[in-house]
Amino acid sequence: MSSDFIVQVGHHQLQLLKGDITAITVDAIVNAANSQLAGGGGVDGAIHRTGGPEIMAELHVVRSRIGYCETGSAVVTGAGRLPAKYVFHAVGPIYRDGNHGEAATLQSCYTTCLKLAAEHEVKTISFPSISTGVYGYPVEEAAAIAVRVTAEWLREHSGPVRVIKLVQFSDRDHEIYRRFAQKLRDGFATGTHS
Ligand code: ADP
Repeated sequence: MSSDFIVQVGHHQLQLLKGDITAITVDAIVNAANSQLAGGGGVDGAIHRTGGPEIMAELHVVRSRIGYCETGSAVVTGAGRLPAKYVFHAVGPIYRDGNHGEAATLQSCYTTCLKLAAEHEVKTISFPSISTGVYGYPVEEAAAIAVRVTAEWLREHSGPVRVIKLVQFSDRDHEIYRRFAQKLRDGFATGTHS
């Protein structure tokens, strides 16, 4: 799958791609999980289907240890048959009206996964558009957060994460993400991005 849109951040890259996240080779794939770590539809269903039962078996072990995963946080498993080493199961916020800390919680999903990536020496990581499916987060707002937080991370951290891939499943979502990434790239080019 080719990379559709690239923002160069120093020696690092933020890439936007349209497609199925389970088909993209990276070190770590982020899943949009639920706090029970119980498996579901959407991207979670695709990850378990393609990755195989090993991932759920590992989640059972995690569950028996910690019970559940807090919203805005994430847990780590192997990646089964997926083309990756790890899956980071992040729990995004359920969107209510935007006044219930949703933005901070969504941001926390991205930063938690990037911290986990650094701890696990991950060089390439892919994110789906967390919370924008069943959890109802408006994609325009979620895209703005995803693009800003990941680009800031690349600017502020020298390694080991070198490439962050934001993966959208639909043309519409991809267009929306592109708009924000384009603004960011223009800002970098003119030096107006603060
Ligand atoms: P949430 O419960 O966090 O909203 P969903 O899985 O319902 O999670 O949706 C999150 C996003 O993942 C949505 O934008 C959805 O279109 C997208 N998505 C679903 N399947 C895939 C896939 N195979 N690859 C990438 N993104 C996917």
